Amino acid sequence: MDCPNEHGRMELKGMARDLPFRGKRVKFRARHYVCPVCGMEADDLDLAAENQKALSDAYRRAAKLLTGEQIVQGRKKLDWTQEDLAGAANVGIASVKRWETGQIQTKAMDDILRRVLAGKTTASDVYTGNRPLSLARIKLVLERFSGLLGRKLLKAPADKMLYAAKYLWYADMVAFRETGQSMTGATYAALPRGPQLNNYSDLVDFIREADEGQAEPLTEQEERILVRIARVFPGNQAVYRAAHKGQAFMNRKNGELIPYTDAESITAM
Ligand SMILES: [Zn+2]
Repeated sequence: MDCPNEHGRMELKGMARDLPFRGKRVKFRARHYVCPVCGMEADDLDLAAENQKALSDAYRRAAKLLTGEQIVQGRKKLDWTQEDLAGAANVGIASVKRWETGQIQTKAMDDILRRVLAGKTTASDVYTGNRPLSLARIKLVLERFSGLLGRKLLKAPADKMLYAAKYLWYADMVAFRETGQSMTGATYAALPRGPQLNNYSDLVDFIREADEGQAEPLTEQEERILVRIARVFPGNQAVYRAAHKGQAFMNRKNGELIPYTDAESITAM
């Protein structure tokens, strides 16, 4: 590469970088073309990609996330293709390719990748958000929403949970994305009127009769998530429209179970 200031050929040089990135101090080696005359630095496309990957991996080491190389090695140890890993983690193959070449995965996704690569995950984890189903906790979350919204969410006796399920869906999905675990362990299906508790018609009476006092208490982080959701969606129509039109929901076929990995694409919260 030649210097844009017409000083002739630039030299390829490695240099130590130490910079703040996403709230972490990140140290890595970058390579740039440098003009020996004026000191101008430049990257071609390959070098830019290489430096981006070095930054991303340094950040992932600092944030205790799997690096691209660790994902590749973990997969090869299992003799898996990128497609095998994508299938096991319930994501698209394009996502696997991006993480391996430098895109930074979220903490929740990193947890899933680690579990999958360690052979510790079962398909159901992806549909329960790494928590066993707790009807008492569903009741607890709905009661808390009722308190925050100032109205009852579960109406007796023939409530079909059309709106209650949307609030639960946001609580579970956002909790999964931010803590790596759902709040209630509920499984959701894509139904014509939006995400719904799987088998809700069998569950709704048991939820109504469940004793929320038996549920594991909400953590402060979970409590804050519920407050945010109640603030963004004060009314049933707002939560219904957002959940019903959300990308995570629209991508699923009617009746299909919705994996918690879809939480990545929830934009309303
Ligand atoms: Zn120059």
